[in-house]
Amino acid sequence: MAETVFGLILSGRIPCHKVYEDERVLAFLDINPLSPGHTLVIPKERAETLDRLSEESAAALGRALPRICRAVMEVVGVTPGASGGCNVLQNNGSWAHQEVMHVHFHVIPRTADGRGLGVVWKPMAGGAGFDHAAGASLAARIAALV
Ligand code: 5GP
Repeated sequence: MAETVFGLILSGRIPCHKVYEDERVLAFLDINPLSPGHTLVIPKERAETLDRLSEESAAALGRALPRICRAVMEVVGVTPGASGGCNVLQNNGSWAHQEVMHVHFHVIPRTADGRGLGVVWKPMAGGAGFDHAAGASLAARIAALV
């Protein structure tokens, strides 16, 4: 895997504003934030996309993410449902808007003044309803591979 900017941060060759670190995980502020407190949470393991990540790193990320979300929201003063919220975004592959090819989770506060992640959500069926026969087949094929 080619060295990425996150690899350079992990090896200390470029600086970051660190907010959390453990044996397997590093979290730091995004250099181009969508809102104050926008944080990136990355595994120390060099994996390009989530599907290539080890279970050990995935578990470590899963443990760290809620703690980091809580801390970010408290510091920027958002409470889900009351004064804003928080999106956790994870992109895989350039078609899915991944620019840095090292697994990362964005923790993005959504503030009452509208800063944060903008989402365009376009359901396939356009309100026509879910095809349950196709859905059952699709779910079974995916389940067989998980
Ligand atoms: P992606 O589109 O790959 O999901 O997001 C990559 C993120 O990495 C972007 O939000 C971008 O601002 C952030 N980023 C890129 N280079 C650097 C850097 O050198 N330092 C930090 N802290 N963030 C970076």
